[in-house]
Amino acid sequence: MAVEKVDAEELLKAGQMMQDWLRESGNATVRPVDLFISLYEKTRDYIAQGVNVDDAQFTVAELNAVVKGKGEGEDSPEVARKYVVDNLKKYQELVAENRESLDAYLRQHDQHQRIVIASTESQGRHKKHYYLKLEPLADTPKAEKAAALDPRYVQYRVKQLPRPALWAKPFMALTLAGWRRGVFLAGIFALVIGLAGPLIHALILKKLLVWHLYTVSLSAIAFYTIRPIYDVLDRSILKAPDWMYGLSVPSAQLELREIGETDAGRTIRQIRLAVYEGECPICGGRVIIEDGKREFKGRLIGECSRARAEHIYSFDHITKVGVPLRVNAYYLSTVG
Ligand SMILES: [Zn+2]
Repeated sequence: MAVEKVDAEELLKAGQMMQDWLRESGNATVRPVDLFISLYEKTRDYIAQGVNVDDAQFTVAELNAVVKGKGEGEDSPEVARKYVVDNLKKYQELVAENRESLDAYLRQHDQHQRIVIASTESQGRHKKHYYLKLEPLADTPKAEKAAALDPRYVQYRVKQLPRPALWAKPFMALTLAGWRRGVFLAGIFALVIGLAGPLIHALILKKLLVWHLYTVSLSAIAFYTIRPIYDVLDRSILKAPDWMYGLSVPSAQLELREIGETDAGRTIRQIRLAVYEGECPICGGRVIIEDGKREFKGRLIGECSRARAEHIYSFDHITKVGVPLRVNAYYLSTVG
């Protein structure tokens, strides 16, 4: 099932904008639009629940039920299919008629992709599924840039926004601006004192007391736990420690994001979990993000799951582009 891979983050952004356009253009009250809105909201809920965006696909029965607010088995498969197919057709006609207005609206809001409803071809006994995908607007500089990406480079995408584990949630809610950032850094400082203080006291007394050991161990555990949070302030993105997310996610990145500005013009930052992934331009394998070793120490790099030492790429979460780190005549001649 060759489904085009979509970036969860960009899908959310484009979806919100399409909803705004539908409302502002007065089309939101038209019945077939409910199908798009329902599909978008369902996809958005999936992403918010930490589900891999590739799994946000829905059958006719599911869509029929969501749009009508009914149970899934209440309508016969034939009624459900007809309802979804008819409304999808009408929705697509409506968008086609208003294409210029939509594209102009998106461009005006610096959005260079529109969302379309796509479906998996029904193959044999597999059920047909509907999902949302992104389509570049014609002739925008950004779309041209994406199309012109060197074929040897990796295009990364946000595949999933994993839900943090219960004990990691407070860190994700933290917006690092002004006094809150100060309190956070003071906390780290207090922990360092908690580690060093008792040891210095013990040296002065020339004996080790029980409370020395308690304080040092507790501080050490706390320090070890929140160290990645401190590091991400410094490095912007790093491998998230396992304790932050559930077992269903193999590996995730911890990322510091700019989410806005204070009135005084200071940038507000927030920490989040994300799973970035790409496709290997050499072999088509999955490129996953790992800690670089040896000559790539201190960086995150993209490693192809099929050739983890050879098919490796740089990783830039801002541009979402990776360039080959092993450059030699062979790879240059086989690709592109
Ligand atoms: Zn590869």
